[in-house]
Amino acid sequence: LTHAREPWLESLNAPQREAVLTTEGPVLMLAGAGTGKTAALTARLAHLVASRRAWPSEILCVTFTNKAAREMRERVGGLIGPAVEGMPWLGTFHAIAARMLRKHAELVGLQSNYTIIDTDDQIRLLKQLIVANDLDEKRWPARQLAGLIDRWKNRGLLPGELDAAENEAYANGRGEQMYRLYQDRLKALNACDFGDLLLHMVTILKAHGDVQAEYRRRFKYIMVDEYQDTNTVQYLWLRLLAEVKGDAGHNICVVGDDDQSIYSWRGAEVANILRFERDFPGATIIKLEQNYRSTPQILAAASTLIGANSERLGKTLWTEKPEGEKLRVIGVWDGPEEARRVGEDAETLMRDGIKLANAAILVRAQFQTREFEDRFIQIGLNYRIVGGFRFYERAEIRDALAYLRVIAQPSDDLAFERIYNTPKRGLGQKTLEKLHRHARQANMPLAAAALDICDTDELPPRARNTVVDLMRSFARWREEAKTLAPAELARMVLDESGYTEALQAEKSAEAAGRLENLSELARAMEEYETLGAFLEHVSLVMDNDSADDADTITIMTMHAAKGLEFDHVFLPGWEEGVFPSQRSLDEGGLKSLEEERRLAYVAITRARKRCTILHAANRRIYGQWTSAIPSRFVEELPEDMIEMETTMTGGASLWRASFSERDDPFAHVAATQPSRTMTRGPGFRRASQGQYDPAPKRIVEAGRSAASFAAKPRTDIAIG
Ligand code: ATP
Ligand code: MG
Repeated sequence: LTHAREPWLESLNAPQREAVLTTEGPVLMLAGAGTGKTAALTARLAHLVASRRAWPSEILCVTFTNKAAREMRERVGGLIGPAVEGMPWLGTFHAIAARMLRKHAELVGLQSNYTIIDTDDQIRLLKQLIVANDLDEKRWPARQLAGLIDRWKNRGLLPGELDAAENEAYANGRGEQMYRLYQDRLKALNACDFGDLLLHMVTILKAHGDVQAEYRRRFKYIMVDEYQDTNTVQYLWLRLLAEVKGDAGHNICVVGDDDQSIYSWRGAEVANILRFERDFPGATIIKLEQNYRSTPQILAAASTLIGANSERLGKTLWTEKPEGEKLRVIGVWDGPEEARRVGEDAETLMRDGIKLANAAILVRAQFQTREFEDRFIQIGLNYRIVGGFRFYERAEIRDALAYLRVIAQPSDDLAFERIYNTPKRGLGQKTLEKLHRHARQANMPLAAAALDICDTDELPPRARNTVVDLMRSFARWREEAKTLAPAELARMVLDESGYTEALQAEKSAEAAGRLENLSELARAMEEYETLGAFLEHVSLVMDNDSADDADTITIMTMHAAKGLEFDHVFLPGWEEGVFPSQRSLDEGGLKSLEEERRLAYVAITRARKRCTILHAANRRIYGQWTSAIPSRFVEELPEDMIEMETTMTGGASLWRASFSERDDPFAHVAATQPSRTMTRGPGFRRASQGQYDPAPKRIVEAGRSAASFAAKPRTDIAIG
């Protein structure tokens, strides 16, 4: 009633209001998924401006993505009008730091018009430095160094601050030297990379008390969403801006959920949120426990699953939402069937008048998108890939396709140009110019010119030998293409060209993803009899840009989906080795497995109404049929919250795992059996018994002080 003039307080519950109205002093909102943390933060922003506690330009508000910043701006605008247009400090860490650095660039030896270089430029620069310093780039790839430098920057480490182990991590103790040279080179170019934006600002704030004082005066309020995924340099930057000596602390309000910390691989430190109280003594801790997003079933499943983690604070979640459907766990035969099944479900949604925009497919790894993209194109279903490229547009896929195009069509100059020196074989721009000139004069395609030019002395001997080798390879591959299956050919080409090897040498997570994409490409080709047919398919796929205003289903990674919500969520590939990822299993540690489980928690809690988990009994990996075992996370879901369905005869998908396709006596039966619903088969071992009962509306949390909530790890979830 009192909120007629404070519309942002409408529809907030009591603890959310407390978070909004506790404007002074440090505030920590630590709460589970879908409890309205972001909503409360948005209302708080509106409140601060509308109540004239601060001008929009005096509030620093950090979101995890640009999209989240846009949405917050719009929502605040809807609440308090156009004042919000002047919110220069609402954005991601990068966006805000870049803006700051423009003003103070000279303090770190840059000019204010500095350029921010992208990863490609970064790699190119590092390669030059590696070569110039007599290091073997094959042995010590630029990407590896780039990964290390990123890591150091995420941890706020300058050259000179690395410990011995870090220094050893590259080229037998030359890590630090190369890092320093790289930073010097960037400065000379009046450039910086993404990691520098925050690092430079930290350096400036530390060294220049006046600059620091200026920002501390300016930012009357600081707010941070998704605080559990801040890394060290972000944390340092915030503290430099927020901390006021001799005072209880600044007006800093952070929100997050330790169960949703999923970026440790990018340097995020969940410890940052856990020690907030220590960093900012006297902090008000606010817990939100009512979930407004998901049905009781979805909430129960997610709560039970995350309960299997040991390293967590533990928290209570409840909902007043009416009963919904159970989660569906669908076992299918293989990847194509998985894509077919999701496609059918999406079509059913459309028939029921539901917009595809309300549905999302969340994958663990990029390579998983391919099967869906191919299927959706086949059935004319509009989709969009968020936070990444469509499968066939990814750099490594384009490279591989370029090789195949040159084999299929020797006059494809663009394709030839793309790969004549990829992977690096020492053919530079000069050689290419000569090839072009020769091609023009002789009126022939580049590839033919390359062959032709080797009979002349136009090229220096070394380049000529390399070109001869390459053209011999192409001739051989073209010969092989006549008999070999397209997928086999692709694998052969990627191996023999050195492309795979170059990626393997990188040893980075990114390179591992690219390798996965390449084996996925080969898998896609297995459905085609000729190379020509496959390439035609690809050009059709590439041409399939759906109109911007079309209603599309979203495909994205689970990581990118953080903070978002959809009515219908599809979670494919819940198999050991896919999710949890092979990487996390290989590492073997509890830590990486628990991070995968948090990711599963994030994924399930994106769903408002319906959550569909899929697992295939067979995946073809590297051309081999591999029997897949359902993810342990499937086993960890509470039995009474899920409905199992398999397209195979009862339980077969589970014990099938122990047979290969060839000696599986049921292969022919299973593949043709109609769908039927089944209860959990004997193959499932109960890993943990969920204790969540969705019926009671209120879940009792044993009386715990805010302090004990933040300090003491719990492994149980209290259920009343
Ligand atoms: P996540 O941890 O996934 O980031 P969150 O805690 O930030 O979740 P929000 O995205 O802010 O949660 O809110 C989840 C949903 O609940 C949104 O649709 C939001 O509009 C709605 N919501 C939030 N607070 C309330 C409320 N008090 N009453 C009704 N709906 C609410
Ligand atoms: Mg949120």
